[in-house]
Amino acid sequence: MNALTLIKDITVLAPSPLGRCDVVVAGGKLVAIGHDFNLAASAIPYQTIDGRAFYLTPGFVDSLVHFIGGGGEGGFATRTPEMQLTDATLGGVTTAIGALGTDATTRTLSNLFAKAHALEVEGISTYCYTGSYEIPCRTLLGSITDDLILLDKCIGVGEIAISDHRSSQPTCDELRKVMAAARVGGMLAGKRGIVSVHVGAGARCLQPLYEAIAGTELSLKAFYPTHMNRNAAVFAAGLEFARAGGVIDFTTSTTDFDLAAGEVAAAAALAQALDAGIAITQLSMSSDGNASLPLYDTAGELQGLQVGQVRSLFAAARAAVQCYQVPLAHAIHSISATPAAILGLQHKGHIRVGADADLVLLRQDDLQISDVFAKGRHMVAAGQALVKGTFE
Ligand code: ZN
Repeated sequence: MNALTLIKDITVLAPSPLGRCDVVVAGGKLVAIGHDFNLAASAIPYQTIDGRAFYLTPGFVDSLVHFIGGGGEGGFATRTPEMQLTDATLGGVTTAIGALGTDATTRTLSNLFAKAHALEVEGISTYCYTGSYEIPCRTLLGSITDDLILLDKCIGVGEIAISDHRSSQPTCDELRKVMAAARVGGMLAGKRGIVSVHVGAGARCLQPLYEAIAGTELSLKAFYPTHMNRNAAVFAAGLEFARAGGVIDFTTSTTDFDLAAGEVAAAAALAQALDAGIAITQLSMSSDGNASLPLYDTAGELQGLQVGQVRSLFAAARAAVQCYQVPLAHAIHSISATPAAILGLQHKGHIRVGADADLVLLRQDDLQISDVFAKGRHMVAAGQALVKGTFE
């Protein structure tokens, strides 16, 4: 591995457009962004990449990945498999946040955190939510606050399920206790302490979140509701939530079944939310990678299952640009700077001096991912994985 990489004459989306620049990567960090850099006199070996045919964007931040698998809603044989390293890197994802879901009995937080460490060793950056769908929350150390304060990888709690037939039907008081614990634990650890919320298709929709903050000192910003493109009613409720100051997340893994049943494609949801005047800093997308995508009939009976894909994250951003006229910088913002800010990951989601060298080179002609760097390491070149997971 070269200690130094110089990317020449590349159009930088930081994600705000910076124009054509030279970018220098060293020691896993972005150390210089400027013009006409020349390292020829350097005694340190370096590689040069001709960036003229590419856009340079931050590595993507996927705020919800079931990287130890999930599902099981149709019995043991429907538990989904684990994510592999290249599932993330080939999709440009260099930071993934792991979560449990419906099943916190056969899927455990110790396994989730172990997988997060494994992926970190393999090359990408990982964090986890403590808890799962259910309240009272499962934790590793006995409480949400302890997990947030004492576990470096723990950055929040979730995904807590509301308005869903698979939720624990949490009461207002239970949601308040979770929100308060995440707030205090986050403060003491210097983290955002966000509460990731799985929003189901139930008629109450986001009402439990409004009720939870009413009469408290906390705001809607405590919550990070996801699956807000699940159907037209949930999407409309999400726009209202964003107008009230909240942030919302759209899920990019989908099926033809979901789309036929009224799901708003994440790319379309992003475009419509921007058209409705919602700021890009309030809009993110996540893959829900390796979740099961249950196919229910109208009576709520399980008909089949598919598996969420991390690579759907960038595919949705690309579709937003190519099919819905979303500016490329905005599409990239929704999968980099926005989730990084919501999660409090200061070294992620931006191209700036001092940030981690998590980078994606997109071909300008067709917006396909060409190269990916994670913490300065060249993970993908010309669309092919240079680094593979231990068992790939
Ligand atoms: Zn969910």
